Amino acid sequence: MNAERFMNNLKTIAGIGRNDLNGIDRLAFSPYYYQALKELEKYLKERDFQTRVDAIGNLFVTYNPDNKDEFIMLGSHLDTVKNGGLYDGALGVFAGLEALESIKEKGLKLNYGLILAVFNAEEGSEMGGTFGSRTICGRNDFSDKGFEERLKKYDLTLEDIRACKINFDNIKAFIELHIEQGPTLYNESIDIGVVNGIVGITRYDLKVFGESNHAGTTMMKYRNDPIKKLPKIIKELFDLADEYEDPFVMTIGDIKVVPGMYNVIPREANLFIEVRDMSQDNINKFFEKLGKFLSDEKFDYSLEKMIEKPSVKLDKNIMSLIEKSAQDLKLSYKEMSSGAGHDAKEISHLVPTGMIFVPSVDGISHSPKEYTKEEDLEKGVRLLIEFLKNI
Ligand SMILES: [Zn+2]
Repeated sequence: MNAERFMNNLKTIAGIGRNDLNGIDRLAFSPYYYQALKELEKYLKERDFQTRVDAIGNLFVTYNPDNKDEFIMLGSHLDTVKNGGLYDGALGVFAGLEALESIKEKGLKLNYGLILAVFNAEEGSEMGGTFGSRTICGRNDFSDKGFEERLKKYDLTLEDIRACKINFDNIKAFIELHIEQGPTLYNESIDIGVVNGIVGITRYDLKVFGESNHAGTTMMKYRNDPIKKLPKIIKELFDLADEYEDPFVMTIGDIKVVPGMYNVIPREANLFIEVRDMSQDNINKFFEKLGKFLSDEKFDYSLEKMIEKPSVKLDKNIMSLIEKSAQDLKLSYKEMSSGAGHDAKEISHLVPTGMIFVPSVDGISHSPKEYTKEEDLEKGVRLLIEFLKNI
């Protein structure tokens, strides 16, 4: 690889959208997103790579000098969250670009043609996360009534979306290099994470009911205040979560009270509860136990499931090949799951899929402080190239 070229491309093109807080605002479908995409496309065309941009702003780059019939797809996303970092998504894009350039330069013979996929709208937007990759996989929910309305805001139709679906018959595998976005590799000084799966996400809305009344005239002994029940419930939530092993995580993301005024005893407390794990069984049991606790305590409550996105397991053969490639390069590695969603999750439903993680300093991401050391980025790129040679 050419480390200087790689870093230069990453810093200049993925630096588009930088704000006063030193973060990056390259939101999906934003002018900065399309500016970066155009810059990247221009760079590729100048180097005689074949490019195609679809209706939703995904870019595909084909490198197939030996006219192979079968392809390996690699890539990640070019959009960021608001005030995000340089590496989330962009690493996989520019590592893929460097892989294509290095392989072309050296005239390396591969068993497959390569398609670099640069996805739009991986980060959560009103289209939902992983929109770009979900769309090429044909995995949108067309029965969702609001879908067509939301598309209109971006001048898109259901037909446009259907036309973005690609045929995966000739694509034999997908590989995504990404920063870990957690502290494990960094804390344990390990070069590479070999991702075995992406956790499932289940969200529940818990409402605890009481009775609204005057905050001045209702003596303490006469109140039915849902807030008073919260300490016990919150303790139970954390105690239950502690019964499970990594990567099981539970988050109370918000607590709202209704009506939410100084002088009114609330009638309702509303908790947003999110649980992530590889095992849906664990997640379901967690919420069953929570329901049992709430009933045993005779709380007046409702517990409603809002979202259930199942976990996915990544491909064992691809994992072995990543490990073999890491051994070739004498890189240390460990098997781990991903606590965040990725484009790889969508594509894993269609073709054998793998993910490579590199360390995130202090595990920080979705922040201007997101940082991965240059040497760790390079290890990731070299491993990606080695994997493409080995597959
Ligand atoms: Zn990402």
